[in-house]
Amino acid sequence: MSSDTASRPALPHDRIAVLITAAGRGTRMGGAMPKQWLDLSGRSVLACSIDAFAGFERIVVTVHPEDMDRAIAEHGGRVTLVAGAESRSGSVRAGLEALEGSGISHVLIHDGARPLVTPATIRAVVDALAEGAEAAAPGLAVTDALWRGDAATVTGFADRTGLFRAQTPQGFSLPVILAAYCAAAGGAADDVELVQRQGVAVRIVPGDEDNLKITWPGDMERAGRILRMRGNDMDVRLGNGYDVHAFGPGDHVWLCGVKVPHDKGLMGHSDADVGMHALTDAIYGALAQGDIGRHFPPSDPQWKGAASEIFLRHAAELARGMGYRLGNADVTLVCERPKIGPHATAMQAQLAEIMGVEADRVSVKATTSERLGFTGREEGIASIATATLIREG
Ligand code: MG
Repeated sequence: MSSDTASRPALPHDRIAVLITAAGRGTRMGGAMPKQWLDLSGRSVLACSIDAFAGFERIVVTVHPEDMDRAIAEHGGRVTLVAGAESRSGSVRAGLEALEGSGISHVLIHDGARPLVTPATIRAVVDALAEGAEAAAPGLAVTDALWRGDAATVTGFADRTGLFRAQTPQGFSLPVILAAYCAAAGGAADDVELVQRQGVAVRIVPGDEDNLKITWPGDMERAGRILRMRGNDMDVRLGNGYDVHAFGPGDHVWLCGVKVPHDKGLMGHSDADVGMHALTDAIYGALAQGDIGRHFPPSDPQWKGAASEIFLRHAAELARGMGYRLGNADVTLVCERPKIGPHATAMQAQLAEIMGVEADRVSVKATTSERLGFTGREEGIASIATATLIREG
């Protein structure tokens, strides 16, 4: 395999659960609605926090029992909802219990009121865990001078040396955080404190000034400003791919992951799925990461006869790892026969499933070349594909 694959962290996302705490009532905000349900540019604060972990399959959210109906309506299909307890630590405990026996090795615990956490911060925590840390969390060194005071007057000073502002997600090996909660007598400000009290070393990774916790009324306005700025920083990439395979003897062809009966086959080193190859190259192209041949050299015998979904899955994972999501993909097959129309819906579904996106982001269509050229003479099939990738912030 290529170096891109070898350099991926050794801790796959399907071994990591995300636990988002959203059971608090947020009394400091004032107002009738708990802060996690306030609207931030068209989505709730909690929805933004959940979406920040789009690359993770296993997400548990603790919510206040009074909010359960709303949570089920808005997030029930995507996340596991657990009724929270009176205290934050009680809610985390309930969330952790929902993960026991699930085959998960690590958990990221995140404040539902931190909707602006970036892929870079999440990645820094995951990378530290992958490197063997039992606990890791983002922190920001305190740079302001620290005073003590009553409401109006400075009464003393504190040394800021070695002080950090703690953020989330805080990542833990699952046995370590479970043991810390078993041993915990009272509460703690956060989960790092509980674990550190047990003698576990907690790695500090770089925090982010914008990863604010919505606490005071002014925080919503600041969060909105940051989101608008990120919109301007959005990185949209377009890639194209082109591929051709020649007909040979056979009784079917593989096109966009679907086996289509035909009186010929397609020749190639792999399963010769010309549509999937063009799409895979479009994604690599958008990432400026070469093409299929670079990642899966044809000289390597292990790819002989390979199902092309291995290539497409790799490209989609590479995109996700670099912080991109697929905006849309469009594949055109150029051939006189077989007829593509009856299979197009199945092809769209298949490609979407492999890439882990909704089917309505994927288009498959076909054209003939009016009997002109090699496709017109039915010597082979050509395919052209386009993909857009989007990275926010
Ligand atoms: Mg090819």
